[in-house]
Amino acid sequence: MSFSSQNFSPEIVRALDECGYQKLTPVQQQAIPPARRGHDILANAQTGTGKTAAFSLPIIQKILDTPKARKPKVARALMLAPTRELAAQIAQNIKDYTRYVDVSVAAIYGGNKMSSQVNQLEKGVDILVATPGRLCEHLEQGNVAFSTLDFLVFDEADRMLDMGFIGDIRTIMNSFHHHPQTMLFSATFSSQMNVLAKEILVKPKRISVAMENSTAETVAHVVYPVDEDRKRELLSELIGKKNWQQVLVFVNYKENANMLVKELKLDGIKAVLCHGDKGQSARRRALAEFKEGKARVMVATDVAARGLDIQGLPHVVNYDLPFLAEDYVHRIGRTGRAGQRGNAVSFVSRDEELTLVQVENVIGQRIRRIELAGYEPKPRDAYLDKLNTKPAFKGRKGRTNNPEPDQAGAERRARMRNMIKNRNKAPTKLKG
Ligand code: AMP
Repeated sequence: MSFSSQNFSPEIVRALDECGYQKLTPVQQQAIPPARRGHDILANAQTGTGKTAAFSLPIIQKILDTPKARKPKVARALMLAPTRELAAQIAQNIKDYTRYVDVSVAAIYGGNKMSSQVNQLEKGVDILVATPGRLCEHLEQGNVAFSTLDFLVFDEADRMLDMGFIGDIRTIMNSFHHHPQTMLFSATFSSQMNVLAKEILVKPKRISVAMENSTAETVAHVVYPVDEDRKRELLSELIGKKNWQQVLVFVNYKENANMLVKELKLDGIKAVLCHGDKGQSARRRALAEFKEGKARVMVATDVAARGLDIQGLPHVVNYDLPFLAEDYVHRIGRTGRAGQRGNAVSFVSRDEELTLVQVENVIGQRIRRIELAGYEPKPRDAYLDKLNTKPAFKGRKGRTNNPEPDQAGAERRARMRNMIKNRNKAPTKLKG
């Protein structure tokens, strides 16, 4: 199904063509026709499916079809996103789609100056993309009003709830005087989400491009059971021996992310950081280096990586399993896109075995465990003894618990550096 067959303005079709969009993705095929007819939409769509165009193109076209003069402090469409990165990305996509038409878009989110955002809102805007927290500040200060809002979108609604934005969402909803056409997109559905969906949607068309809480079929999932204090070494070895060239590594703690990047660099693997303490421009720079292949590894925390356009990767590694099993779906959504094979690897220590079961329940499949020679976790009894003598460590302290004597560590590192230098050699198989 092509975009020109969907009655979009030729200027939009031309812009989409320049973006490399010829055919509608499945979520676009399902969402665009009912959205154009004015229905509310409840969409179960994973990251990387083309959902931004699915909700924004019908709105852009409707704005073009029913032109209204812009009024100060008024927006015609509001799109809510959980993170500033996602908000910026949605706004950028819309700018790309509206290159040849007169539709204005503004993005407002925390971390940028209020005053420049106030100036943008003062002029009035067709499409406003915002994070809930910053938007509430503007609402409270009277910088924007939604009494005549025509369109409302919740993108990655599950993440907004996880991040505790429910109060802000209610404040925003209370500022409406009528029901705008509303679309809610989410990769996962919890009971809290279903309650929210019932409150905000009227007779929605339900669409789904994947099983609920499922991950793409093109992703090969594997679990490597490994002790916490051997994970870093295993990561370097896998990258080197399997000759992985582009790897997104998820960690739960910022401290682990910092430590891991330093350690990978010592092993001769160029790695960049993406976590909440890094400013937005630093995160974007890291992402650019990673995408351009200047860095082989990007180490990220969930919230920081959220919204960054880093789909279509060959390898995603869960260095730690996520605290929330649903986040596994988000993380893995970065790989295995557009029919390409993706590789989703999880390092699972004894502490994380329960979380693994929860992950398997969420994705509805059992993940293959492979014990790698040399990395077998300590037997459960030894692990329990260790727990009784020392508190389980998390984060930076892990390094000091590393049982590897200095000399052996130096030798291992030298071996690793040599191996990584031969980065373009054919991948060798790890025994496992
Ligand atoms: P999204 O799920 O909106 O983040 O989109 C994921 C990626 O797919 C982005 O890089 C989009 O630019 C791209 N994309 C969206 N729709 C299409 C399409 N119809 N054809 C090709 N690429 C697309």
